Amino acid sequence: MNIHEYQAKALFEKFGVPVPKGAAAKSVAEFDTALALLPEGPTMVKSQIHAGGRGKGTFTDGFKGGVKFCKTKADAKELAGKMLNNTLVTLQTGPAGRKVQTVYFTVASDIKKEYYLAILLDRATSRPVIVASTEGGVEIEKVAHETPEKIFKVYVDPAYGLADFQLRQLITGLGLTASEAKGAAKLIKNLYAMFWETDAAMVEINPLITTPTGDVLALDAKVSFDSNALFRHPEIVALRDLNEEDSKEIEASKYNLSYIALDGNIACLVNGAGLAMSTMDIIKHFGGNPANFLDVGGGASKEQVVAAFKIILGDPNVKGIFVNIFGGIMDCNVIALGIVEAVKEVGLKLPLVVRLEGNNVGAGKATLAGSGLTIVSGDTMADAAQKIVKLVA
Ligand code: GDP
Ligand code: MG
Repeated sequence: MNIHEYQAKALFEKFGVPVPKGAAAKSVAEFDTALALLPEGPTMVKSQIHAGGRGKGTFTDGFKGGVKFCKTKADAKELAGKMLNNTLVTLQTGPAGRKVQTVYFTVASDIKKEYYLAILLDRATSRPVIVASTEGGVEIEKVAHETPEKIFKVYVDPAYGLADFQLRQLITGLGLTASEAKGAAKLIKNLYAMFWETDAAMVEINPLITTPTGDVLALDAKVSFDSNALFRHPEIVALRDLNEEDSKEIEASKYNLSYIALDGNIACLVNGAGLAMSTMDIIKHFGGNPANFLDVGGGASKEQVVAAFKIILGDPNVKGIFVNIFGGIMDCNVIALGIVEAVKEVGLKLPLVVRLEGNNVGAGKATLAGSGLTIVSGDTMADAAQKIVKLVA
């Protein structure tokens, strides 16, 4: 789960990671109240969307820059009006962009130098890794590609925690001065505590800055959490912004379905994550493109199947449906009854290929045959995949 910069910075403050003073607004009416919390003077206006690269982004109406420096609060208010409810396209949003529904005002900081600092889980060593670089502000992927020697990593033993010698390694590696070192050590220590205690998957500060007066601050903040640990953190779940998520995925999560929207045109309804993945693979193998990953699970009810079928029919990109069920625990007839019920409610104009196998398959096939629906049946996975690819071509 991702959160916005303004929410991440509120968490930073709670854990003692210094950030510039700021205030968020979700409507034009809130601009004055938010700005009243900040001192008069240079102010940043920052579009809040769940994607990076905002500074270099462009709005769909041609307005440039989702992060802007303003000399006064009055200028900041004017620019915020141009960003709010406008759609921002960045390298990370894809061409459709994201609608800005919150703007964040912050006191503009004087920058001496920009750095990069992140903490994430390293799967190879099963440890948190702190990634740091003197080349902050710009795209870290570019630094990694062109000058990898400018990025260094410190692996933390999760049982021992972040050690003082490792803090010194980070501070020396970043080339910080003695007067900056104290603030930086405290910042990194507190950031690690936050990463650990909130079950974060990643915390990223780009840029981390030093100021001419010797302060060290997080100027940007990107934080994502491990969804499997969210049950331990109701206060973090409350930060979820459904505007930033795919509406089909939200609907699927209400029914406990594992659904992920993809950009192809063949919808898949499958039981079991492994079978769902191989179904996507075989569609690709025969030249098609899956519109989604969908695992209805081993013990899905008819209601879940109905919900799943309606979700995939609600995707305008879908040109055909492939139902691939291997009934181990799953009763094939439950799937068949769910499909028939969903089609009764919302209709079906698209080609549907069904491959049913396993538990109670006879009854499932009889339900489909007696439903009057036009269904193409596949004998094997390969046969069914080729049929649906051909039907949508
Ligand atoms: P991003 O483009 O989505 O990564 O958004 P950032 O919050 O990182 O802002 C983009 C860039 O704007 C930063 O890399 C900085 O160079 C600049 N910037 C952001 N905040 C400030 C600030 O308070 N003062 C100054 N001078 N520049 C800032
Ligand atoms: Mg940034």
